Amino acid sequence: VSPVVAALLGALVGLLAGGLLVVRLVRSRLPAPSEPTLLPADLRRVTESLRSAAVVVGPNDEILASSPAAPTLGVVRGSRIGIPALLALVRQARAGGEALTVNLDHRRSSGRPEVQLAVRVVPLAGRLTWIVADDRAPALRLEESSRDFLANATHELKTPIGAITLLAEAAEEAADDPAAVRRFARRIQNESGRLGRLVSQLIQLSRLQGHAMRVADLVEVDAVVAAALDRSRELAAARSISLTIGGTPGLRVLGDADQLQTAVTNLVHNAITYSDAKARVVVTTRAEASADGDRVAIAVSDNGIGIAPEDTARVFERFYRVDYARSRASGGTGLGLSIVEEIVTGHGGEVTVWSKPGSGSTFTIVLPSAPGEEEP
Ligand code: ADP
Repeated sequence: VSPVVAALLGALVGLLAGGLLVVRLVRSRLPAPSEPTLLPADLRRVTESLRSAAVVVGPNDEILASSPAAPTLGVVRGSRIGIPALLALVRQARAGGEALTVNLDHRRSSGRPEVQLAVRVVPLAGRLTWIVADDRAPALRLEESSRDFLANATHELKTPIGAITLLAEAAEEAADDPAAVRRFARRIQNESGRLGRLVSQLIQLSRLQGHAMRVADLVEVDAVVAAALDRSRELAAARSISLTIGGTPGLRVLGDADQLQTAVTNLVHNAITYSDAKARVVVTTRAEASADGDRVAIAVSDNGIGIAPEDTARVFERFYRVDYARSRASGGTGLGLSIVEEIVTGHGGEVTVWSKPGSGSTFTIVLPSAPGEEEP
């Protein structure tokens, strides 16, 4: 081998070794492949802390960061985007450089229900793409329930208005028969009474929903119960139903006394209405300790007709009645319990029902105790 060739070979070997060393050095300075340098730390933090399904997608469609809701809603599956149509949108946004906003319905495998997503796909610097997706189901449910509510309210209002019109015509035609006129007039009074109750309950409901509740006053539970029973005495006496108070006196909650009175009155009215004559209605108050702090329970029990298990979950729905004719005959509107529920949840509490057909029902309102109140 000539010395020139030997020198060249030596230089080549030296260069290769040097190159390898440089590559080694550079490699060792680069972070591990699982730690992408592309992703700004703040973007990761924001993405991971969002309640929406949020994902940062890398230039090769890889997931670089995601929020806990992303796999739950099916947006992410393993290390990839879980919805083919969404992957297409990511590529489109990346290529076009424009943010995209779409509604996507995604049928998940394994028989789970369809998810309806509102999606925004935003291209970012460094060929990153950001996805933010929200479940549209709660908004759609709300929309549907307001549509139903409006349809039901209109129907409920039309019934007494139609009856009043017909009865007034009948009274006019029976002008020569005073007894018939009196009969029609009484029925007009009944129907207008129903109309009045319906309108005032609709107003109550819309007030309860539209405004933040004032739950700042110290309210004596005994006074609330006493007022509710006072308001129900006439109704109870007409049906020879006894009203009794029991349990622990002297409890207090924070809230709006008038609204709490309305809630307890509605429960007592129902207990009277859905019991046979000579039944007994008992209102019991007690203090309860729970993991979330001390609570006050107000239970209204009757030994009336009771409610079948399939209806107990539905009685709090607006306009729902187990027995429409019985509710109507007693002047019911189907709104009483939904008003109770609105008031109680607005006070940070809950209302539950236990019932057995033929034995009776107990509706229980549970509210947080006023702070610093010891059990007397
Ligand atoms: P309503 O004006 O019809 O009484 P509510 O919202 O107060 O409307 O109650 C809804 C339905 O729940 C009633 O129509 C009735 O069927 C049932 N219900 C409520 N309270 C009782 C009760 N204490 N015992 C039996 N059924 C009840």
